Amino acid sequence: MSESQFKEKPLCSVKSAVPDTVECPSCGAEVEMWSDEDEVLCKGCNTQVKRPHA
Ligand SMILES: [Zn+2]
Repeated sequence: MSESQFKEKPLCSVKSAVPDTVECPSCGAEVEMWSDEDEVLCKGCNTQVKRPHA
């Protein structure tokens, strides 16, 4: 099985969603997170990165 590297936006996603960049607390890599997501999987170390601020 393979985890998709690029998470497709759900069809019901609001069109105002924009990509944001957060820093992975584990490896320090920059991880792209959509504005309508609260967490994303780091591509570098597979750590679940949560949005630093609400
Ligand atoms: Zn990482």
